[in-house]
Amino acid sequence: MLPVVTSPACDLLLTNAVVLTMDGQYTIHRPGAVAITGDSIAAVGPAALACQAAETIDCGGRVVMPGFVNAHTHVPMTLLRGLADDLRLDVWLMGYMMPVERAFVSPDFVRLGTRLGCAEMIRSGVTCFADMYYFEDAIAEATAAAGMRALCGQTVLRFPTPDATSFEESLTLAREFIQRWHGHPLIVPGPAPHAPYTCTPEILRACAELALEFDVPLHIHLSETAQEVDDSRKQHGAPVVPWVKKHGLFEAKVLAAHCVHVDDGEMRALKNANAGVAHNPTSNLKLGAGVAPVTRMLELGVNVGIGTDGAASNNDLDMFEETRLAALLAKGTSGDPTAIPARTALAMATRIGAAAMHLGDVTGSLEPGKRADLIVLDLDRLHNVPAFGHAGDGIYSRIVYASKSTDVVDVMCNGRWLMRNRALLTLDEDELRQAAGREASRVDVFLASREVSVLQKLVAVGGAVELESFEVQVKARVAAEEQVLAVVGGKQLTVIRSSHYHQYDTYWSFDDPDQGWLRYREDEFLDAQGNVTGARSRLTLTGRSREEAFGAVLLSRSRYYAPATHSARFYREYFRPAGERTVEKDRRRWLVAYRGVEFYVHLDRLVKPARGGYFVEVKSRTWSRRDARDKAAVIADLLALFGTSPDDTLSDGYADLAG
Ligand SMILES: [Zn+2]
Repeated sequence: MLPVVTSPACDLLLTNAVVLTMDGQYTIHRPGAVAITGDSIAAVGPAALACQAAETIDCGGRVVMPGFVNAHTHVPMTLLRGLADDLRLDVWLMGYMMPVERAFVSPDFVRLGTRLGCAEMIRSGVTCFADMYYFEDAIAEATAAAGMRALCGQTVLRFPTPDATSFEESLTLAREFIQRWHGHPLIVPGPAPHAPYTCTPEILRACAELALEFDVPLHIHLSETAQEVDDSRKQHGAPVVPWVKKHGLFEAKVLAAHCVHVDDGEMRALKNANAGVAHNPTSNLKLGAGVAPVTRMLELGVNVGIGTDGAASNNDLDMFEETRLAALLAKGTSGDPTAIPARTALAMATRIGAAAMHLGDVTGSLEPGKRADLIVLDLDRLHNVPAFGHAGDGIYSRIVYASKSTDVVDVMCNGRWLMRNRALLTLDEDELRQAAGREASRVDVFLASREVSVLQKLVAVGGAVELESFEVQVKARVAAEEQVLAVVGGKQLTVIRSSHYHQYDTYWSFDDPDQGWLRYREDEFLDAQGNVTGARSRLTLTGRSREEAFGAVLLSRSRYYAPATHSARFYREYFRPAGERTVEKDRRRWLVAYRGVEFYVHLDRLVKPARGGYFVEVKSRTWSRRDARDKAAVIADLLALFGTSPDDTLSDGYADLAG
């Protein structure tokens, strides 16, 4: 009697394929098969062929490989694609992205953006991505509905976000989000402290503890720009990686995006912490951040995946392009064409990327027991023929250097088809295109209204901006400082307090003179010996039209103040003024009482331009026209004491003197 051989059963058998498993041995089955049962891979290669399948699909010699893993993105930002390009990171982020996000990002916005991003990613063969954004709950819902796998990071920042008014609130949101999605078959939830420079040590620690409590990954941006590292050294006395380590970040399973500016010690620290890194070559190039030392990180054993970053800084979510660029950049920056060969690049985009996301047990390669996340790829396109068979590894270079995302034919995630024969099965492309267009029109209207006025642009980035109360003020030239000093030191005035500082003023003018002047002022406070004891920066927007003048004494123009939280360079690039003038001066300032009225007296010595000489400025707050008229009369007398008279040509500050 013959023994009865019972073949294992499976739901689906993919046959007649070139199966790139992307496992640790880079096993290729040619021709090969993949057996799928439920959401998982039952068998690969000859073992799969032995399965009794409910359904068999002949792949016609096409490639079957793991779906691409996009290790870092902000998927709803597809709706901000092309909004602002060719800008420096801070201007792009603080000047455009964050203000628009504050105004527009809502659960509906992120849901639409996520569906658009998922459609684009499925089309290009991505089955799994790592996200970081706001309203992550809506993103997780839309992703799960589209059938994709994702690590969804709920953003935590130290300042208000579109979904939270404080960091305590965003931490609570992150906790509730993780509780709700923990254990979901497609969604892995986690906290996403945005970056060390937008968080505090307390936030980093709280996020790490949250991730530990639920045993979920933590997603963060680390060491993206040289500026970030310089600032970290200045503020914390250490580069970024040791500083976050000190605050407990690496207690958690970390996925760190960028790591462009990390030294050897920091790379070892990442390895020792088993932190994954997401390399985002297009985003880093486009924002001028640099090129991450990927070859060295891989040598040290760090799991380095590849990511597209958000569509606002890329501007697409095409992993074929990123993978090719990762391979090319490593060669171009090292002068070594053997750096990051195609096979390694493709592993970074699949298995290693999944490991970087701490999802290596679940996805990233075609191995029994892992989820069935795979794509079918057509290499028989015009841009990819002929094919050489003499070297087994040739298939990797065909995919990395010649394939395009449009060569993806079928996509399966978690055992479910998301695209068959290039038709999306879970999303409606036409509907998404139209809805995205409507959203862009709304953002256009918002930005157009902001761009018409310097004040509106200032409000958009300045935080609290206030209209100062009216003041009477006058400026005058003085031949020498002695007479002013004598009066201030004499008996006619009472000095209430005094200070001394060095001022660096940058005045910006605009094509439309009605916009007035924008002044960026850096004050250095000086002690009696002339040593710098402190500094501050402020922005002042001075309107052009004078309210009213009493002789040469001016009831002031509208003035708007904002604390200058960015550099002069930031504001220059953000406001794009038509003209710029700089003035440097030494200022002594007294609050005095004269004839029962309090005035500020400034005695200025212009350092630059050197031809400037000495000036005195007298000003006082005022409440009514009548009060202003009375004070104007007193100011005129005070100036006479100083031996001078008002000079109306100085009324635009010192901008007109500067060259
Ligand atoms: Zn990012």
